[in-house]
Amino acid sequence: MSESIQSDRQGGVLSGETVVTADFDNPTAVLERALLLREIVSAQTEKLPEGHIFLVVINIADTNHYDDIIRTFGYKFADDLLNIRLADLLFIHKNQSFFHVGFWSIGFIYRSRTAGEANSVWPLLNDALAKPLICRGIPISITAGIGVCDLMKSPIAAEDLLQATYLAGQAGAASPTGWAECNYDHAHDHRRAFTLISDVSNAMITPGEFKLAYQARATLRTGKADAVEALLRWHHPALGRITPDEFIPLVEATGLIRDLTFWVLSYAISQAAKWHADNHKVKICVKISTKNLAEDDFVNRIAALLELHKFNPEFLELEFSERRSFANPSIARSRLLELRAMGVNISIDDFATGKDSFRTLANIPANFLKIDRRIIKFLPDNLRYQALVRSIIHMAHEMDMLVVAEGVETFAVQEMLQAWNCDFAEGYLINWPMPADAFISWFNETYPRE
Ligand code: C2E
Ligand code: CA
Repeated sequence: MSESIQSDRQGGVLSGETVVTADFDNPTAVLERALLLREIVSAQTEKLPEGHIFLVVINIADTNHYDDIIRTFGYKFADDLLNIRLADLLFIHKNQSFFHVGFWSIGFIYRSRTAGEANSVWPLLNDALAKPLICRGIPISITAGIGVCDLMKSPIAAEDLLQATYLAGQAGAASPTGWAECNYDHAHDHRRAFTLISDVSNAMITPGEFKLAYQARATLRTGKADAVEALLRWHHPALGRITPDEFIPLVEATGLIRDLTFWVLSYAISQAAKWHADNHKVKICVKISTKNLAEDDFVNRIAALLELHKFNPEFLELEFSERRSFANPSIARSRLLELRAMGVNISIDDFATGKDSFRTLANIPANFLKIDRRIIKFLPDNLRYQALVRSIIHMAHEMDMLVVAEGVETFAVQEMLQAWNCDFAEGYLINWPMPADAFISWFNETYPRE
């Protein structure tokens, strides 16, 4: 396989290189991924006295670019483009076998005769991938990435290796050299993600694994906390404490977010109903995913929960992050309007960190706006952020929305927000997220009943 790669570059052409041009009627055969996995397994057991065997994955372009090409030019054009690029790569060996890894990702096995040889090949591959690409007379600009993995040093399963090398290809696209070595931590991360996702359903029915922590929201005018945010906590039996920032995005990528959001809503509403029965009339704020707004029965299930606990909808606030897009914005909007009509409050969370903040603000029927803590943290010494937050508060008030500032950690920031007529503050200055019992003790101590 390495017969042609051994030779030196001469005048930009490898000696012994077969010059190949793309033949659209006889495209380079690209074999199935299953066959590549078989090759990886057999290569892992091979022993070369001096050389090395590598798995190489080339991401011809990122998947968004692939989608753009399909949308604009169609599949045939995309196939032709791939074929041209593969012809550029045949300098490795004129009979090089390529395997499909993804739409525009191809993999192959490369055997080097010495350890140093491989390091001279990756830059050549990068040069080939950086060549101007012209398909049917149209110049196309794409950025490729190369992922490489030394199979003789990699004891992990073939499928994990392929995934990790594919991810190395993505890292390669962002690197100045165009290539990156496989990082086994990626394979580890993916196995961990898989374990977490597999264990979510069980955690929902195992007492004590999922719990809610509660964090107060203070009314800036009075200083009194009359709302509380429910935040999910997971104590995994084998992996310990898992932060919501790690597991929520994984769950959101699956259908399990439907059950998990409902789990949180059930516990939070049931807890708030108990507090109300005890004459603590706090509002409960629960996070939902924009994915939940695509569920046909989402509104009915919430109505049923409120009915079950005889809970006044005006004491429920549903917040969703503006950083996540809606599968169908008009359906999401109509579900939110139904919820608003029932009396449920709607809050736009993480405001000013998404790509479409103004469109969200103009179109989503929310009555609360939460300014993200990643904006609030700049307030102490950044005049531009101060102007931005003042303007957001003003803009939201013009739209009859109330404003919550998240991540308030100092009195100085709280005073600024008060001076700018911000309505509410959340953050460690007020309290930390804590279990229900600790929360109510803190509440009784901080705001003794008259
Ligand atoms: P988020 O919606 O921005 O939630 C607020 C996060 O900021 C919480 O982290 C909270 O502990 C933290 N925080 C509160 N006050 C301060 C402060 O003064 N300074 C700083 N630096 N941080 C503060 P947590 O609980 O780890 O949650 C992280 C994210 O996980 C949340 O961000 C939210 O996106 C997600 N999440 C948490 N619980 C749920 C849930 O039940 N459902 C859904 N869908 N997402 C959740
Ligand atoms: Ca937030």
